[in-house]
Amino acid sequence: MKTLQCSACKHQVSLKQDVATKKVNGIFMLQCANCQQWSHEHRNAAVVKNLGLMLMITGSVMGYCQLGGFITGPLIAVIGGLIAVATLFAVPRAVYTGT
Ligand SMILES: [Zn+2]
Repeated sequence: MKTLQCSACKHQVSLKQDVATKKVNGIFMLQCANCQQWSHEHRNAAVVKNLGLMLMITGSVMGYCQLGGFITGPLIAVIGGLIAVATLFAVPRAVYTGT
């Protein structure tokens, strides 16, 4: 089950439930069903996550083209994926103070 913790009230927001979302300046916003507070990813977290995703894509392409042998590409892809997922769950979300 995929849940994200609300930064304001620590409520577990399930992405599968009917939560309100919106995008502001390309940043994904999520509204807590418990306290109605909007929250979003930290800018730094987003950068690290994108880095992980880039590693994942690069590794996949390397694996597909078999650059660097059978191991290197998939290994880079797995590490990139882990970085992306770990960032998503480990870094607390920022409370959105705009409208
Ligand atoms: Zn909340």
